Amino acid sequence: MAIQRLFIANRGEIAVRIVRAAQALGIHSIQAHSEADSDMLAVKLADEAVSIGPAPAKESYLNIDAILQAAKATGADAIHPGYGFLSESPAFVRAVEASGLIFVGPSADTIERMGDKVAARQAAEAAGVPVVPGSDGRVESVAEAVSIAEQIGFPVMIKAAAGGGGRGIRVAKTVEELKSLAPQAKAEAEAAFGDGGLYVERAILSPRHIEVQILGDGEAAVHCFERECSLQRRRQKVWEEAGAACLDEKTREALCASAVALAKAVNYRGAGTLEYLFDEAANEFFFIEMNTRIQVEHPVTEMLTGVDLVAEMINVCGGAKLSMTQDEITRTGHSIEVRLCAEDPYMDFMPWPGQVTSLKMPSGEGVRFDHFLSEGYQIPPFYDSLLGKVIVHAETRDAAIDKLVNALTELEIAGTKTTAPLHLALAADPNVRAGDFHTQWLEPWLEAGNLTAKGDAA
Ligand code: ADP
Ligand code: ADP
Ligand code: MG
Repeated sequence: MAIQRLFIANRGEIAVRIVRAAQALGIHSIQAHSEADSDMLAVKLADEAVSIGPAPAKESYLNIDAILQAAKATGADAIHPGYGFLSESPAFVRAVEASGLIFVGPSADTIERMGDKVAARQAAEAAGVPVVPGSDGRVESVAEAVSIAEQIGFPVMIKAAAGGGGRGIRVAKTVEELKSLAPQAKAEAEAAFGDGGLYVERAILSPRHIEVQILGDGEAAVHCFERECSLQRRRQKVWEEAGAACLDEKTREALCASAVALAKAVNYRGAGTLEYLFDEAANEFFFIEMNTRIQVEHPVTEMLTGVDLVAEMINVCGGAKLSMTQDEITRTGHSIEVRLCAEDPYMDFMPWPGQVTSLKMPSGEGVRFDHFLSEGYQIPPFYDSLLGKVIVHAETRDAAIDKLVNALTELEIAGTKTTAPLHLALAADPNVRAGDFHTQWLEPWLEAGNLTAKGDAA
């Protein structure tokens, strides 16, 4: 049943990553693209490419009928969804399977259970994994949210059950704030996910975001250690590391074991991530959500462990057993990724999609640049602004930061603004160097003018 013709229903840097994995496995790659993406790098690299509709994502990358029609017309036997778009849609998975194709990811039932954050919290609790104190299920009214908030204590987070990408989340410090913010979160969730369901959680103060990479084949499950993604803006990750410098070995083991227990409990197949918040002062971790797909920051884990996560997910979804046991997965050194976006960091991160007039890429031992750029490429304005990721690996965290600075200095993308100056400023910051930060650290740092000051000086 091994996959022979893989259809890639995504775009940007992750499409390139999947094409390369297919090539390494000797699998024929078929790249889907919207009309706005006909000259993107993955189209050039893939064995075949096919248009799935006009530029707006609703008419192409989110259009289930168009994707399935194109997949069948090109003789694909499997579909890789990448991240975002339809990657966590049970309806899409069911439609793929009804067409007789393999979905490179977990079953529709698993996605339904773990992709809904409320159901995932319940599954985590059942597997003995601690969750952030909060509502047992969805809250059906503002009055119910208020009563739960009074039990668990303010501040609370109001969160969309279907949430992702940092959307549909609000923090309420008082009953009044909760009453006015809950309808906002609901409206945002309805618009973004077509599901306005909300739940309430205690807001953890100054936590670190730590997540565990898991792999499963439907029976066995293993972890590939943790990542730390605490440097966030608007609840979106900006800079990610593997491993988490703040964890002691005993806590790391307990955290990773809890993730494997949960993956096994849901017979997980493919690559997935369990996200946690870590209260450093109390040395306590709490599960917050599961992402049932490959994640943007997966390369830091690949650099740390040498495991090819994308190849492994393709193999297990084609019916193979996991190619490795837990003992065979080891970690060496330290790895850091920064997300390079086509935004102007000096102008409140305004999107700045330009034409790449020239491109000089960083290289060298322990340096990886996952991207979808080429000289002359006009970045389309229709999609999210991620251009690529610079990933480095070195023996120590300090050496990795030094290598990151060198790689970002070597990188030159003319014709568009990028967030590289933000990453250079972060790399130069003493707190970042000391590993002394949390999820609520970056926004005040930006508001205090740390970036502007250095930018003006430069
Ligand atoms: P990761 O969880 O992989 O670190 P993000 O949470 O930033 O990365 O999500 C990856 C991409 O998928 C982003 O472009 C984000 O906007 C998008 N995304 C995440 N979750 C959803 C969702 N539920 N619906 C639509 N897009 C999503
Ligand atoms: P998404 O699906 O949008 O990625 P998450 O549930 O993973 O949403 O939360 C995104 C980020 O929001 C977390 O990494 C963290 O910074 C913050 N966050 C979420 N829940 C809480 C909480 N209960 N307390 C404090 N911060 C939280
Ligand atoms: Mg998340």
